[in-house]
Amino acid sequence: MNNDILLTPGPTPLPPQVREALGRPIIHHRTSQYRALFKRTLQGMQTVMQTKSSVICFTSSGTGAMEAAVVNLLSPGDEAIVVLGGKFAERWGALCKAYGITATTVPVAYGDAVDPKQVASALAAHPKAKAVFTTLCETSTGVVYDIPAIAAITRKSSAVLVVDAISGLLADDCRTDEWGVDVVVTGSQKGLMLPPGLAFMSLSERAWALVDQAKTPRFYNDLRLYKKALADDDTPFTSAVSIVVALDEALKLALQAGVPQVIRRCAQLAEATRAGMQAIGLTLFSKRPSNGVTAVNVPSGVDGKQLTKVMYDRSHVMVAGGQGDMAGKIFRFAHMGYISAEDVLAGLRALEEALNSLGYKVTPGAAVKAAEAVLHRSTATVSA
Ligand SMILES: *Cc1c(COP(=O)(O)O)cnc(C)c1O
Repeated sequence: MNNDILLTPGPTPLPPQVREALGRPIIHHRTSQYRALFKRTLQGMQTVMQTKSSVICFTSSGTGAMEAAVVNLLSPGDEAIVVLGGKFAERWGALCKAYGITATTVPVAYGDAVDPKQVASALAAHPKAKAVFTTLCETSTGVVYDIPAIAAITRKSSAVLVVDAISGLLADDCRTDEWGVDVVVTGSQKGLMLPPGLAFMSLSERAWALVDQAKTPRFYNDLRLYKKALADDDTPFTSAVSIVVALDEALKLALQAGVPQVIRRCAQLAEATRAGMQAIGLTLFSKRPSNGVTAVNVPSGVDGKQLTKVMYDRSHVMVAGGQGDMAGKIFRFAHMGYISAEDVLAGLRALEEALNSLGYKVTPGAAVKAAEAVLHRSTATVSA
């Protein structure tokens, strides 16, 4: 048995019900039994994604759904706006480039959130832009973007708003229909408490209209095929049966608790994590911290790569380091999905020990105590 504690922003730990479902004998996907289950899971995804639009399910990691958004909404030569600010936002830019879409980028410093006014100016300067690509939680910086404010701007324009909620869903609020977000993409291995392998997408009517006009070549990701199959609760290609069966279990857990409660719990764990970090003198990298992952500056004098390695070697706690230019300078501590309060406290304990062993002296227990104070206070408020 492996007793690693995964505090990474994907993959995240699996609940026992999900692990049990993954080990069941496989069933055939072209059966009424499977279709009923598939239909139920997609309805559950509509609740989780807070939309009445139908949800498309792909067998791929999250990036597959990002690529599907680009190739199904746009044609080579089209203009789009990409909001930057982290490694995942940059992926939208790379995808546009790969398919010959002219992307205007809205620059955002790592750790900052975009000022929605910048999106408004970009749209004013590029009125032909057909889509704005952005991110709910920018996992590389731990920042959550102000999607309702951005949606208020795109709703009044002719561009559709496409949001990467791969790590944000079920951690940060994502009111797709209420805010007027046209396209939301997500993946299975983060807040959904599943292994990697499924990606999802919802599209507004405005977005579906673009799908019919788009001229980018596509085959596996062609949304027209998925839409047609969906009429029979089916998929155009073999469904990832076992992960969908596990999705059914994961959704039961999330929906029994309720989407707002799942998000509130993540917010509490995030607050406890931030309090723990601050209690030992660490500072946050994110100017607008997300509920799903906390990005923390590595204190000066400490080697960031050693820090994450020592946490793992000594305590079997895995946190993520920084990506790209942020490598060695920050670490990212996740608290989404099935990650529990005990896991967060174990992570903070491992962090204290690793920092002490690397010469950054902290009072043992200080981070854990500060986090516990937040957790006890929130438990008291919830039960009151
Ligand atoms: C994890 C993640 C992705 C990438 O998903 P893959 O499943 O690795 O393809 C994209 N965007 C964000 C914000 C993520 O957190």
